[in-house]
Amino acid sequence: MRLLVVEDDRDLNRQIVTALEQAGYAVDRAYDGEEGHFLGETEPYDAVILDIGLPLKDGLSVLELWRNAGIKTPVLLLTARDRWSDKVQGFDAGADDYVAKPFHMEEVLAHVRALLRRAAGHASSDLSCGPVKLDTRAGRVIVDGNAIKLTSHEYRLLAYLMHHTGRVISRTELVEHLYDQDFDRDSNTIEVFVGRLRKKLGVDIIQTIRGLGYLIAPPNDQPSSAPGATS
Ligand code: CA
Repeated sequence: MRLLVVEDDRDLNRQIVTALEQAGYAVDRAYDGEEGHFLGETEPYDAVILDIGLPLKDGLSVLELWRNAGIKTPVLLLTARDRWSDKVQGFDAGADDYVAKPFHMEEVLAHVRALLRRAAGHASSDLSCGPVKLDTRAGRVIVDGNAIKLTSHEYRLLAYLMHHTGRVISRTELVEHLYDQDFDRDSNTIEVFVGRLRKKLGVDIIQTIRGLGYLIAPPNDQPSSAPGATS
């Protein structure tokens, strides 16, 4: 999953980006409304953390511009604690959620997780596919009850595919959602990551769809679904 943080306070921006990166996301950053607006319009983020008080273009205007342009990326607004009007205006402008400043970083992480799973149509923070369980809260992957150690890129790859089960994901889409802007992107490396991930998981849940990309079938279509799993 790839995120954008638009916050002009450089310390806070760095803290949020660091926390999100540690939680396993690819993260781009912007320090003013114009840069943020441009990035949000040109890059396919899975969610945006958007401050309201920004230089050059305020957060609410940026959000309105995106929504008017048909960009549906989930947006988490950062609002000032006592400005209820900001929250109302924010939702009216198309925000999906907000966190009031000052906040604990854990709050932002929890709101981001909720936005991402809602956007992908999941109700729970645990995603399962057959014997593979992804605990998005702890950033852990469990196969048949055993925790599997993945690198951040492998984790991102699995998380993206598991958030979008039942859909064939092209290599290009993976590259766009797994790496931040500054990363030297190469779609050939995706194949390598998929190979490593398959080996570590030890179960065959990732299908290669020739010429199109990769697919994880929805939990109901997994042949080795755990007994008692409900649909
Ligand atoms: Ca600000």
